[in-house]
Amino acid sequence: MDSLKSKFIGCLIGSAIGDALGRRFEGHWLSDALDQEFMGRWTDDTHMMIGVAESLIEMKGFDGEHMARVFIRNYEMEPWRGYASGPPRVFRMIKSGVRWAEASKRLFGGAGSYGNGAAMRVAPVGLLYHHDIAKLREVAEAQGKITHAHELGLEGAALQAYAVALALQIDRSFDFDPHSFLANLRNFVHHEIYRFKLVKVEELLSCEDRKRVVRELGHGIEAFNSVPTAIYSFLRHSRSFQDAVLYAVNLGGDADTIGAMTGAISGAYHGIEAIPERWRNGLERKDDIEKLAEKLWEIAKGF
Ligand SMILES: [Mg+2]
Repeated sequence: MDSLKSKFIGCLIGSAIGDALGRRFEGHWLSDALDQEFMGRWTDDTHMMIGVAESLIEMKGFDGEHMARVFIRNYEMEPWRGYASGPPRVFRMIKSGVRWAEASKRLFGGAGSYGNGAAMRVAPVGLLYHHDIAKLREVAEAQGKITHAHELGLEGAALQAYAVALALQIDRSFDFDPHSFLANLRNFVHHEIYRFKLVKVEELLSCEDRKRVVRELGHGIEAFNSVPTAIYSFLRHSRSFQDAVLYAVNLGGDADTIGAMTGAISGAYHGIEAIPERWRNGLERKDDIEKLAEKLWEIAKGF
């Protein structure tokens, strides 16, 4: 298979697998032994990532009104996917006539959310615009605005999309350099909290103490307490998709989302062939997700 195509598919399948593994984390170490029980059912993270991909494909690019409608349509078909309280409130407002970029501003007393919901679903943007950083940032933030108005939530989405784009473009036949990867990310971010966290990521690269990693990087639902943690999980285990996602979900906290974001970056780096077959085979709607990745690849080729 074409290597870039393999990486597109690896990214979206990897994200869904990380989500599904994280869903199963219940506070005890999730090991390979649990593979037999891997059911492959994913949560809102993947459900919304699918919505982002569907809308980008149908509109051949970003259209906020359309994407919001796709989110709403998908949510109404499967509201049991583990959505937080914010998105359904936004969906109701949009359905009642509020503009797609306005509704999310009304959450949290007008501050908007800085949760990781804009980042957890952004992988298709990182794929489609991997060759154009300015456009990648613009669309990552714009898709975020449908549900997340706070600038830290939007920058988290942009950072995650850029990490996917970088991982996608690295040629795996050369030695991987986590330091130059991080230097690129640090130059990309605007907010001090992300720059600070990315410095921490570098300091902790050889740290064996998982509690310290959680304490310093975070594993919460805030974008700045989870996007850097996913980047760290990938870098810490850059040679193995399996090791990276298992490490990520075993950090606990918001395990499905951190698993999804780690899986997206690691899958974009390694490609689909590097993802254990027993996980791929157990994944819910695997063929649909693969098709979305292939279509994104086709569109990206034409840009
Ligand atoms: Mg979830």
